[in-house]
Amino acid sequence: MCNHILNERFIKYGENVIDLAISNVKAGGLPFAAIIVHQDGEMIGKGVNQVAKNMDCTAHAEIQAIREASRNKKNVSLKGATLIASGEPCALCYMAIRIAEIMKVIIVSNRYESEKHGFDYLWTYQYCNTSLFDELEIVKLDNDRKLLPFQLANPNFSG
Ligand SMILES: [Zn+2]
Repeated sequence: MCNHILNERFIKYGENVIDLAISNVKAGGLPFAAIIVHQDGEMIGKGVNQVAKNMDCTAHAEIQAIREASRNKKNVSLKGATLIASGEPCALCYMAIRIAEIMKVIIVSNRYESEKHGFDYLWTYQYCNTSLFDELEIVKLDNDRKLLPFQLANPNFSG
């Protein structure tokens, strides 16, 4: 599949991941969602933050999406896939992404935008070797609605 068509799909998946994050907020969850796209452009997994719902501190959106994609593909390696996240992955999720052999990550909002809206996980990165970030291709996707999930979840922080 040519890059142009793939990029159009990523823009669409960027919209989808924001919608998923908004739905999760409306369901009482945190404003984080992730989608995993196979190298042929097909969505193979999605997830939302279910930490409180599942009483599982590892049930971050990205990890839930990895779990679903691996079940769908019947493979723990998701080599060649791309993960699209509504909020930048924390260090735990970046590590899970790397272990799943996903080398491309598209983020709609970054760690500082999350922090500014009351979701501060900047501290997680201090336990992470920076060579991890050098290996991954991390792309920021522009979207006008990028902060909406945060604003809905935490109206007092709408900066
Ligand atoms: Zn995480």
